[in-house]
Amino acid sequence: MTAPPGDRRRVAVIGAGWAGCTAALELARRGLAVTVYEQARMPGGRARRVLLDGVPVDNGQHLLLGAYGECLRAIAQVHGADAGAPALLRLPLALQPWGRQPGAVRLTAWRAPAPWHLAGALVGARGLRLGARYALAASLLRLRRDPAAIPATATVADWFRDLPRAAFDGIVAPLCVAALNTLPEEASARVFAKVLDTALGGSRADSDFLVPTTDLSSLLPEPALRQVAAQGGELRLGAAAQVTASAADGVTVEVEGHSEIFSDVVVAVGPHQLAQALGARPADLPGCRAALAMAGAFAYEPIVTVYLGFRAPVAMTAPVMRLDDRPGQWLFDRHGGSSTTWPAGTATMLAVVISAHGAHQRMEREALAVAVEAQLRRLEPGLPAVTWARVITERRATYACTPGLARPAPGRLAPGIHLAGDYTDAEFPATLEAAVRSGRAAAVGVLEARAAADVRSA
Ligand SMILES: Cc1cc2nc3c(=O)[nH]c(=O)nc-3n(C[C@H](O)[C@H](O)[C@H](O)COP(=O)(O)OP(=O)(O)OC[C@H]3O[C@@H](n4cnc5c(N)ncnc54)[C@H](O)[C@@H]3O)c2cc1C
Repeated sequence: MTAPPGDRRRVAVIGAGWAGCTAALELARRGLAVTVYEQARMPGGRARRVLLDGVPVDNGQHLLLGAYGECLRAIAQVHGADAGAPALLRLPLALQPWGRQPGAVRLTAWRAPAPWHLAGALVGARGLRLGARYALAASLLRLRRDPAAIPATATVADWFRDLPRAAFDGIVAPLCVAALNTLPEEASARVFAKVLDTALGGSRADSDFLVPTTDLSSLLPEPALRQVAAQGGELRLGAAAQVTASAADGVTVEVEGHSEIFSDVVVAVGPHQLAQALGARPADLPGCRAALAMAGAFAYEPIVTVYLGFRAPVAMTAPVMRLDDRPGQWLFDRHGGSSTTWPAGTATMLAVVISAHGAHQRMEREALAVAVEAQLRRLEPGLPAVTWARVITERRATYACTPGLARPAPGRLAPGIHLAGDYTDAEFPATLEAAVRSGRAAAVGVLEARAAADVRSA
């Protein structure tokens, strides 16, 4: 069912990433007729399934945290009552070095109630002297007790400068790069403190690592959009949309020269795509102008995922393990894949992740795959033969999460125009949780605007 043009219940969502899919689902569930425009041929945006030589993998290996409450709720909504559980593998927070890494930091959160799960992790940690463990615990407590004491201009490296090197390099730096996709010398200490507080300051479950066991499109975007369609909504793929006007009778959206009017539009595109999604006239409205100015000042950080197939099983004591950053940072066992879809002769599929900028960016894809394979063989000389290797680089994976970065808030930008996207969430850095939270916030803004309009017209 598609409501007729001019129907004031019609809402458009531009962008079918996790933010747009969440907004569309929330609005469709509240009875609004939703049209989703996505310029790509498939939904999911920066967290989606891709086919490489016909092999389904993700555009980048993702890891979720137990503290991603809104994200987990959305996944549960679309997967039904017993949801989320089969789609996500839950593991205790752990830094476990893979292969031969003598002296590397090794710790695992205990299966004990908070805060003993972390206390236990520190007590049992290897590769850290007692003084380093004590200093780390003291800095984390200081962060929790007085987050306001962190200067807005402080980087993670500034804030932890007195921490013994082993604790900084072995724990703080890898967590910072993984969570903020920004190097500690450039990353905002305040945002990092917030992530640590959310993940480590709550229950034990909040600190858990969650690894998707399905591909990312199946985890949320596709089932969410199926539910939107079941509620009478519409998905238009391959449709690059632009908001061209905002007036009392609605917001105009143009796709390839064809215009439609909606009561409200949620613009859920990436920050570098915002200027394209807002035409010249809407872009000049004060709220839009401010958001465009902020997004226009962003710098971006890449994330590289190297997929490697192996002829025989590869021993891993956990599905997520630490590498030595030369050049791979984290190693994932691809539970999400199924051997039936892997290249012939492949018994194991691994993903190696390299976040943020670095020397690896100067390497061609093939050379990087070779370098990562060599790294794995250096750490574990008995590795079986490689059957398949592919590299995916997302050059603008996230905005660079630097100190004092001004970011727009999710929600209303101008009459009928609402903003969503991972870059708008005030609490989380650019993550799936930020995207889902922003999608919900934008949907709430639309519903409030509709309710206010209903009151006016009553
Ligand atoms: C490689 C990689 C690894 C990552 N790892 C993690 C991780 O481990 N954990 C984590 O939580 N997060 C991770 N992230 C971040 C996470 O993927 C993003 O924060 C999230 O997917 C952003 O969702 P979004 O909906 O805000 O934006 P996007 O996903 O960018 O969605 C925007 C959508 O809008 C569409 N669009 C743009 N312009 C138009 C237009 N004019 N008309 C129609 N459609 C348009 C785009 O095609 C896109 O589909 C990672 C990101 C990448 C790239």
